[in-house]
Amino acid sequence: MRLKKLTFKGGVHPPEYKELAEDKAIEVMPAPEFVVIPIQQHIGAPAEPVVAVGDEVKIGDVICQAKGFVSVPSHATVSGTVKAIEPRPHPVGGNVLSIIIENDGKDEWSPDVAFDEKYAELDADEMKKRILNAGLAGMGGATFPSHVKLSPPADKPIDTFILNGAECEPYLTADHRMMLEKTRDILEGVKIIMKILNCKNGYIAIENNKPDAVRAMRQAVKEMKMDVEVVSLPVKYPQGAEKQLIKAITNRNVPAGGLPMDVGCLVHNVGTAKAIYDAVSSKKPLIERVVTVTGQGIKEPKNVLVRIGTPFEKVIEFCGGVTENTIKIVNGGPMMGIAQFSMEVPVIKGTSGILALTDKETGMRDPDPCIRCARCVDVCPMNLLPNEMARQIEYNNFDEAHQLGVLDCIECGSCSFICPSRIRHVHLFKYAKMEVTKKLKARA
Ligand code: SF4
Ligand code: SF4
Repeated sequence: MRLKKLTFKGGVHPPEYKELAEDKAIEVMPAPEFVVIPIQQHIGAPAEPVVAVGDEVKIGDVICQAKGFVSVPSHATVSGTVKAIEPRPHPVGGNVLSIIIENDGKDEWSPDVAFDEKYAELDADEMKKRILNAGLAGMGGATFPSHVKLSPPADKPIDTFILNGAECEPYLTADHRMMLEKTRDILEGVKIIMKILNCKNGYIAIENNKPDAVRAMRQAVKEMKMDVEVVSLPVKYPQGAEKQLIKAITNRNVPAGGLPMDVGCLVHNVGTAKAIYDAVSSKKPLIERVVTVTGQGIKEPKNVLVRIGTPFEKVIEFCGGVTENTIKIVNGGPMMGIAQFSMEVPVIKGTSGILALTDKETGMRDPDPCIRCARCVDVCPMNLLPNEMARQIEYNNFDEAHQLGVLDCIECGSCSFICPSRIRHVHLFKYAKMEVTKKLKARA
């Protein structure tokens, strides 16, 4: 029995709205008529196309290759013909070079994908190679290449692995359903990760608003005789942010500007763990993912297994379409997600949710002036001064914003959520981070 308090400083309690989709079992959406696969779906260098217009491809064929160590390949997610390679709207913003494949409806797979009964005996390097070849990038939304995360330098040994099943963003239930429906696959992924890292301590962290997932995981851990602890955490946003999770579970503080490996920890999301199992056991590339399609604007909220590259409009159509009072479509959760301006954008590796929000849910109105109430300061889990940073950024004082620690902001949105003046802090902080990074590069 744990006696210490499993939490972190700051945070907020937004309405959860999980009830819209949490009881909906994962449905497999039929592959669409065409898919749009951007060459940039991960943090790092964009992948490089290795197909040409007119090429025939099978599911799992590499269509763009990793360019450098911090990069991952992408694969065909339908069988068919490459119809175009051109810039298309991207869910993270702007237009990005994308490979458009017309589905021939045959669902033919690359022959390379097959179950390997001896996968557990592979050495760590071969496992990492399969993870890279499968094009895995963090599926919780961060999209950091998984093979890079699993390759810490020799002077940063990892003694603690945390499986992130917190799913603290309101509305989202994809990880919850995966933990219930793919429990053993996820745990096989945990075994692989812990073998690669040669790490002794393993935790499975789940917020206590998912008691059925906690029970399912504990039961499976027992049956599989695994030496990992399933930890039920209090509900508080952003409990699932890496630094906050590490603090809650281990009481270690990741230093400002640092990474979890600086304190001997590594965190992977449950979707990534399942994909790691598929990659290592079957050489299965990341061609699909579970997406929560929800919000009061969605007529039939669901958790859907979707091919990567499926346009949002097709996924929404599969969920009955949107209600008339829908005013906002979001890629991701309501706190950290990105509002969309085109329904042509495709599901990418980091798309955990598609939200259709109504006028009642967004409560959108123009910001008022700051009233210096300091509520944003109280809730910031990174101990920053959001009000002061926002004020400096409004005057284009990026050096001051840098000194105040804007680069440490994890863009959780807790400050914006709590602010009575509805100031859009995160928007300002993202902008300032770009400007500060540009300046730092210019000075280097
Ligand atoms: S300043 Fe950044 S880290 Fe702090 S509450 Fe706001 S968004 Fe979150
Ligand atoms: S919560 Fe909003 S109004 Fe209050 S100090 Fe922060 S920015 Fe100003």
